[in-house]
Amino acid sequence: MNVPHFLIRSAIQFPSRPLWIDGEGTISFGEGRRRLDRVAISLLEVAKQYDRVAILTSNRFEGFEIYLAAMHAGMAAVPMNPRNHPREYAYTITDSSASVLVYSEEFASTVREIAQFATLPPNVYCIGDWQEGMPGRPYDELVQGEDLGAPKVNIDPDDVAWLFYTSGTTGQPKGAMETHRNLVQMVHHFLTGGLDDANENDVMLHLAPISHGTTSIGLVFLARGGAQAFPLSKSFDPEKVCEAIQKYRVTATMMAPTMVQMLVSSDAIKTHNLSSLKSIVYGGAPMHRAVLEDAMKKLGPVFIQSYGQGEAAACCAALNKQDHICGDDPVKIKRLSSVGREATGVIIRIVNEAGQELPTGEAGEIAIRSDLVMRGYWNKPEATAAAKVNGWLRTGDVGYLDDGGYLFLTDRVKDMIISGGSNIYPREIEEVLYTHPAIAEVAVIGLPDEKWGESVAAIVVLKAGANATQEELIGYTRQHIASYKKPKRVIFADALPKSSYGKVLKRELRDHYKAHVPTN
Ligand code: AMP
Repeated sequence: MNVPHFLIRSAIQFPSRPLWIDGEGTISFGEGRRRLDRVAISLLEVAKQYDRVAILTSNRFEGFEIYLAAMHAGMAAVPMNPRNHPREYAYTITDSSASVLVYSEEFASTVREIAQFATLPPNVYCIGDWQEGMPGRPYDELVQGEDLGAPKVNIDPDDVAWLFYTSGTTGQPKGAMETHRNLVQMVHHFLTGGLDDANENDVMLHLAPISHGTTSIGLVFLARGGAQAFPLSKSFDPEKVCEAIQKYRVTATMMAPTMVQMLVSSDAIKTHNLSSLKSIVYGGAPMHRAVLEDAMKKLGPVFIQSYGQGEAAACCAALNKQDHICGDDPVKIKRLSSVGREATGVIIRIVNEAGQELPTGEAGEIAIRSDLVMRGYWNKPEATAAAKVNGWLRTGDVGYLDDGGYLFLTDRVKDMIISGGSNIYPREIEEVLYTHPAIAEVAVIGLPDEKWGESVAAIVVLKAGANATQEELIGYTRQHIASYKKPKRVIFADALPKSSYGKVLKRELRDHYKAHVPTN
């Protein structure tokens, strides 16, 4: 089994159903399969099986197509986040020694900048309107040519399909080698779990950058003959998103929690018909319960949470739709703050530093054993040995399991605060602050403290026109959680620094506020 086979199998079953939808029209599964074969054959004319194909595109169908075509040629797709810096792309291209680079037209000048920091791969192609003087050659050249059927390559399930550079929120990015087996396992999980109703009538709208989780979810619909829609290539605008959902009768999408928050706080959801939506997968960063409850009130029980990481493709645990329906049951309501239960084919253990399993309810590092777990880091055997211990992936996330097997993420190992010898998990304090009506966003971090080692600080972004004081917010927290966990300091800010995937950069906040602690 290999990943592009999902497309081939659906093309046999549904040759005339739409596969790709964009602002210009649709391409059927039959035609999409022809293009897939042809692009893969063209790649094999300029590069070899097992080579790496670096890909820097906006959200357009050719971006998804080239990921699949690279895999179909037995090469590894190397997705690059469109919001990164040219230096980061240069690092990725050099570290992966990519022999092909495919970019979309908006990135022509970025590609020229990359060339200042790295040698570009020998084969560069431009998706979109390539003009004389732009780097490389037109992508259309890869699509055109005689139909020769599928490429004759023997793909092993353990070949690398997706070389995913971790976001590097903790250190230098590393290429996680996700194999065909890993991604196929991920699709199986969703098809036996939260997306078991996926079918050929589905239309999945790609909103988050296709260099990340939305493509994984797209594979699930690909496997069932559903369509992939890319009408919007620009940044997240709730008005345009609602227009697209209405126009294309979108049934499924994937969003980062911040996107969900932006969507449901916009008036656009009141003025559009969003009734076609069946499934919204969210994940990649903490979803705070107050935000989720508001979203469910407005959009209904359509939510599915997924917890995973580049090292264990997309979904190690999931909170399925039925888990979101709680009534007045306090246990179920509490579980809305969890990331759900083990995905099919995944074993989760909570371990201490020595790797010993901890009892139910006790917090420790989350370890994963599954066919989802990456083969290792590209060219980094030491980092691989530290991450995969006796077959178990050490995720670097801290959490605990409740007696129903629901996993509660408390934080990244490195974000935990140790104050006066007690472990404090910022997530718990953030959950409380998110229920305060004046707060739009909050991040809790530890700052150096002479007496306690570290003390709790809450960096707060207020809603437009709202007011709150430090004393009021500290008092509010105190009503809900133990006194030693309450913030010692509340710092008001205009915005929180976020990674290109919408994760709050706590390391950056710590470095910044360590250097200048403001007085309110
Ligand atoms: P990445 O490898 O860039 O996908 O980042 C993975 C990290 O994002 C995980 O190790 C978690 O720290 C965080 N993460 C992923 N999914 C969730 C989720 N559902 N809730 C909270 N944090 C998450």
